[in-house]
Amino acid sequence: MTTHAATGDQTAPRPPLAELALSRATLDRDAERRTREGLLDGLLADPATRVLVLEGDRGLVTGLGAEGDAWSDAAVDGAAPEGPGLLLLDPAAARAAVAALGADPLTGVTAAYLGVDGPDRAAYVLLAVPRIPVPLTGGPQAAPAEHPAPAGSRWAGLREVGPLVDATGAGLLTASVALSNWHSTHPRCARCGEPTVVATAGWSRKCPVCGAEHYPRTDPAVIMAIEDDEGRILLGRQQVWPPKRYSTLAGFVEPGESLEAAVRREVFEEAGVRVGEVTYQGSQPWPFPSSLMLGFSGRATSTEVTVDGEELAHARWWSREELAADVASGELLLPPAVSIARRLVEQWFGGPLDEAVEAWR
Ligand SMILES: [Zn+2]
Repeated sequence: MTTHAATGDQTAPRPPLAELALSRATLDRDAERRTREGLLDGLLADPATRVLVLEGDRGLVTGLGAEGDAWSDAAVDGAAPEGPGLLLLDPAAARAAVAALGADPLTGVTAAYLGVDGPDRAAYVLLAVPRIPVPLTGGPQAAPAEHPAPAGSRWAGLREVGPLVDATGAGLLTASVALSNWHSTHPRCARCGEPTVVATAGWSRKCPVCGAEHYPRTDPAVIMAIEDDEGRILLGRQQVWPPKRYSTLAGFVEPGESLEAAVRREVFEEAGVRVGEVTYQGSQPWPFPSSLMLGFSGRATSTEVTVDGEELAHARWWSREELAADVASGELLLPPAVSIARRLVEQWFGGPLDEAVEAWR
């Protein structure tokens, strides 16, 4: 492994961020076709259309073991030939899957045209069903309800399968979750309060009363690997996290604020550290529920750490040697592979950090 730690070279240029799990989209979104009259009805009558069925924020995935098994299997074995894959259904099978969930096909399903992909320009459509409530009859300790899924598949979320499925599947699921989250939380007109209807093949909502058009929102958030003059990285632990769990600092961009200013403000607010030079490193959609994570590296101009005590419980600097030792001993738990935070830490470190971080989930 060639690392900065091995060479001790603090001035070496950073390699690009490793492939970000949820940024690997291949789909042509084909936005101009969204306004075509009757597009979704036509596509859902065509057996060649590939339909992604979403239940809440989970899609159908094949090649997974029982709940929770997939990650560890994949982490241990690497990419198996029959690895996890997003299950895409023909329209008839998709309707059956939706019906099996008990959703009202007229009012309980949001449809969207996702785009085209591959040499055959296959069309992809999303059918999103709100999360089916878990019955409370068993009390808070009851096992989650088992929702019906086609044979060989089960419902799984992006955090679990985002890094495991192929690039096309990861992009489809990420876009679908982001779009579905927006629809489910924006049923009414922000101008006059009336219920809105879905328009432009699932990519906007229109108010039938005042005519306002509303488009899906994405919330920009900055996330940053802050380094001091000694090459140490600043990591923090949120109040709500158990001990030993640390990550890069992050926060939402405020109205009227540049990304660079947001990086400097968040680091000072949360840890009391001043930041000078800031460099963009890459981005990843993070639809939990609607963020876009914008990754930066930054150079600290002060090193004394004073946590705010509200968002952060603790923050401190790690050298590469300290971090490698603490990760190896289990004294430090880093964020999972699906996160841009993990990639930023590895980029700073100079190579992958392999350890049992899966407990973090
Ligand atoms: Zn309105």
